[in-house]
Amino acid sequence: MRLARFEAEAGDGAAGGVARVGVVDGDEVAEVAEVAAPDDVNALLARGPEALAAAGEAALAGGARHPLAGVRLLAPVPKPSKFLAIGLNYLDHLEETGATRPEFPIFFNKQVSCVTGPHDPIHVPVVSGMVDYEGELGVVIGRRCRHVRAADAPGVVAGYLVVNDVSVRDWQFRSPTMTLGKSFDTHGPIGPWLVTPDDVPDPHALSIRTWVNGELMQDGTTADMLSDCWAQIELLSTVCTLEPGDIISTGTPAGVGVARDPQVFLRAGDVVRIEIEGIGAIENPVIDEPRP
Ligand code: MN
Repeated sequence: MRLARFEAEAGDGAAGGVARVGVVDGDEVAEVAEVAAPDDVNALLARGPEALAAAGEAALAGGARHPLAGVRLLAPVPKPSKFLAIGLNYLDHLEETGATRPEFPIFFNKQVSCVTGPHDPIHVPVVSGMVDYEGELGVVIGRRCRHVRAADAPGVVAGYLVVNDVSVRDWQFRSPTMTLGKSFDTHGPIGPWLVTPDDVPDPHALSIRTWVNGELMQDGTTADMLSDCWAQIELLSTVCTLEPGDIISTGTPAGVGVARDPQVFLRAGDVVRIEIEGIGAIENPVIDEPRP
């Protein structure tokens, strides 16, 4: 099932500008009627996979339908309590950066305020011209959990989505935590929807590709992760309770702009597209940060 958040546009019989939750069915999206607060997808996920599947079935059977082409897709999980990400988790990316393989996985936080929609603009901040893309598979947690063994980790996953771990390289490397350089507003595009695990038989066998202005920049496979999704959930849940809606961004393959010769950084007017097999694609235009 593909679970989306969207705004219906004026003229289709519904008021525009109101967030809704729906299930994507072909070229339509069917509204999930029983969502009290469409911004609170976390609560829907927390009801568990069976309840989520039942809500999806009800939506497909009788929910109000909108043409997919006529809606604006929003971030599927707008308010995760945590947005964690792992660095240097693909061998080819490790090699392109010239780094040595870390002895311990490198996790960092993206501040949750950076979350934005699958087609929303990415800002080039006033303070930097070194904005880079990182196409990544995002894992969304579906159950409150702690101390999850890798073997049990698939059972705590609500679904998968595409993440652009947008990175401001000069700010990222000014501090060992990387947090500031990973957390500028608009630097966490996610989507285009959440795909539930029943439609993703193996998250470690998906092609992942990034284009900038139509030019293929990253062409990898999630099979090449050094620490797989399950190991990441085991490690993170050793430390902290994971909550429904939490996002784990699982690393990027080779081809990032900073490692190219010459280096490539995003500029206003660019368009970044990231596609993951079986999940979908997000495509974000780049603009200069609006002046206050
Ligand atoms: Mn990354």
